[in-house]
Amino acid sequence: MLHGIGVSRGVARGVVYLERPFEPTICRAQCGPDQRPAQAEAYCAARAAAAAGLEALIDALQKRGAGQGDIFAAHREILMDEAMEEEILEAICQQGATAGAAVDDVYRAYAGRIARAKDPVIRERAKDLDDVRLRLLRALEGKSDPALDTRNGPCIAVAEEWLPSQIARLAAGAVAGVASLRGTATCHAAIVCQAMGLPALFGVPELLDQARAGMRAVLDAEEGTLLLEPDEAQWAGAGEREQRARQQAETARRYARQPAVTTDGCPVEICLNTGAAQLPPEIAFCDGVGLFRTEFLFMEQKHLPDEEEQYQAYSAVLRQAAGKPVILRTLDIGADKQLEYYPLPKEDNPALGMRALRLCLDRPELFRTQLRAAWRASAHGSLWMMFPMVAGLEDWRRAKAFCLSMREELVEQGCAVGDKVPLGAMIEIPSAALDADRLAGEVDFASVGTNDLCQYLFAADRTNARVAQYAPGHSPVLMRLMGHMAQAFAARAKPLSVCGELGGDARAAAVLVGLGYRKLSMSPANMPFVRQVICRAGLEELQQLARRVCVAADLQQAEEEMQRFYQAVIQPAEKGDAECTQE
Ligand code: PEP
Ligand code: MG
Repeated sequence: MLHGIGVSRGVARGVVYLERPFEPTICRAQCGPDQRPAQAEAYCAARAAAAAGLEALIDALQKRGAGQGDIFAAHREILMDEAMEEEILEAICQQGATAGAAVDDVYRAYAGRIARAKDPVIRERAKDLDDVRLRLLRALEGKSDPALDTRNGPCIAVAEEWLPSQIARLAAGAVAGVASLRGTATCHAAIVCQAMGLPALFGVPELLDQARAGMRAVLDAEEGTLLLEPDEAQWAGAGEREQRARQQAETARRYARQPAVTTDGCPVEICLNTGAAQLPPEIAFCDGVGLFRTEFLFMEQKHLPDEEEQYQAYSAVLRQAAGKPVILRTLDIGADKQLEYYPLPKEDNPALGMRALRLCLDRPELFRTQLRAAWRASAHGSLWMMFPMVAGLEDWRRAKAFCLSMREELVEQGCAVGDKVPLGAMIEIPSAALDADRLAGEVDFASVGTNDLCQYLFAADRTNARVAQYAPGHSPVLMRLMGHMAQAFAARAKPLSVCGELGGDARAAAVLVGLGYRKLSMSPANMPFVRQVICRAGLEELQQLARRVCVAADLQQAEEEMQRFYQAVIQPAEKGDAECTQE
């Protein structure tokens, strides 16, 4: 039995299909002046073919209702990027490179600069560049995408690492589930799997040594396991679990637009985590943006976005939110989140270094530009501002004072700013979590970033799949700390939400509501599952669950409690599922 991280829910049975990495044949001969126009033409034709391929993928995704077109729209932008095109054509026309060599060199150079970042979000961009590079090189060789071998039924597709477009291509065929040696819960390939409802297990250490094409396999993303060559009883048992997981997903989808209210009438706000200036359609059915990661805007640019650019982007988000609150998190870059165009000093332990708020306070000009843009945008909607990586009261007070001085500056200049802009702290450092009562006394609101909180609480690097098991989100230790914060904020009647991945994990969400959280923010794919569990439970039951989890003797007992509760509460065809239909 192999173990990995279940990054997209479900159980799947199938025959192993091994995706061989595409190895382009690149001719590195020097072209004479008479050959160069043909090479330039070949590049342009390949680019057109690659663009057509991307359009087809976006179409296929839309037909499946997967709505992950934005990742591939970003690929299209990469493909059409003028700076890269200029460099490629210059390499061909001026330096005599072949089209293949020019594409390969230019894309690799761009990707190489950002691939060293420790931050997974930034590293993802390097993978997107790789994905587009291979698409272009494949088109240059006149090759189409490899086909799944489905002669023996649906496949469990296995690779060293999946690129988002490969997943989208597989999902158009008979694929039952995907597994990989590398990858984490937050990589784009995982997001595409979730959006397509494709069970996926990433970060499986011995995968490539043990999986062979044609073997039967059972992938259980709920349990985080991959069983190769199961016996007949295991295969049949998995079939039942597969069927049950599929039914559960279908039932949960009926809750996609339901307000999350417990059976005894306690409402829980469900908000959106995003970093894209174009909000997804789910904004219409949720209670606002619970985490707007502003660094995405910075990562998409080739220069630091100036005040006007930021103002335009933030105002656009507020307009789309149409009066619903948007929690704008100020810039979370730093030692390990390097922007290519904004070099920062190297650090040995970047996750413990000069990042997020620390960096912004250290570079007032950077902070000033963003805060001015945010204050100006606040005139166009319900903006809440939140600072990442607040370690305690000192950080909070400095950030708040600086932020308010920017407001004053703008008011003196006669600029319109929102008159009610709550200021809050992100709680993701254990020192801040332990000091929650005093923080609650000073902030207008807070949101718990469980991704970083887990990494710092358990001293396990969140970007390293090998230590993922050391930072268990379901740990009773973490839940007790979550409960401590919920009580501190309730005592001061200050809003406290969860915007880390834990808030979008339906089993954990049940505990969080029981602990007192009334606002959970998550990626859209998780919303139906979280809504479902809340709609089907009573507050008292959730509180009892939270108590049992907090006093659990160990992680295993806590997980058993959560799993038992979840399964009981979501049982289909009971408690009025039939009444709950998606419009
Ligand atoms: C977190 O740390 O939980 C969080 C939401 O922020 P990010 O994942 O962007 O660090
Ligand atoms: Mg964080």
